[in-house]
Amino acid sequence: MSRKALCIAHLFPDLLNLYADRGNIAVLKHRLAWRGYDVDIVRVTHGETPDFSRYHLVLLGGGSDREQALVAEKLRGCRQAFRSAVEDGLPVLAICGGYQLLGEYYQLPTGEKVPGLHLVDMVTEATPDAPRLIGNIAVWSEEAGVIVGFENHGGRTRHNHRPLGRVLHGHGNDGLSGHEGLRHLNIWGTYIHGPLLPKNPALADAVLRDALAYAHLPDDLEPLDDALEREARAAFVALRMEEVAP
Ligand code: GLN
Repeated sequence: MSRKALCIAHLFPDLLNLYADRGNIAVLKHRLAWRGYDVDIVRVTHGETPDFSRYHLVLLGGGSDREQALVAEKLRGCRQAFRSAVEDGLPVLAICGGYQLLGEYYQLPTGEKVPGLHLVDMVTEATPDAPRLIGNIAVWSEEAGVIVGFENHGGRTRHNHRPLGRVLHGHGNDGLSGHEGLRHLNIWGTYIHGPLLPKNPALADAVLRDALAYAHLPDDLEPLDDALEREARAAFVALRMEEVAP
């Protein structure tokens, strides 16, 4: 591989595969390739153990409660390696179920607690009487401007870290705080799933900048023609979002 190669790990795509996380990987890959970088995408499936010393960026996608519990168990087995890589600055993009896993625990609606990785001080609780938080969402992020997407989660997440952004429309972490997602070290946590990065190219580039810095590679992310994405996002924000299909 050339000097400019970046290694991106997609953790457990066979389990955490709700809502098109492969599309997010494709965006990362192509936005790098269009700028002349070589990219190595490593799919780590459930039977395998991740090697955190190899990766410059890790993506953890969304999943159902059952799959989430399986992944939590697997990742707890290599928590120390994951934790020290994250403390050294390994960027992590964690979406919905993957985001919840980074906290201390995820409490299921049954009351059972699935222990998380405790990479961040954060807890998530779902109760049987509280409705799921579903719908289109827009947030304002200092690092990536307006981020739009779709959320669907039963868990309510609480933490005292910096959020990814402020909720403009939708629910976010718990439907009350006005905060969405989490930023800590180079962790990007969010409830926005589905085509998060296709809809939000500025966010994709912000995450890639962290990965390039972590890999000690030059930042040659010159602007791309994102006119289509900008147009789509503007239309999305302008419409009454309840009426827009996810
Ligand atoms: N199981 C989690 C919840 O419902 C996350 C679901 C998801 O990833 N969409 O809160």
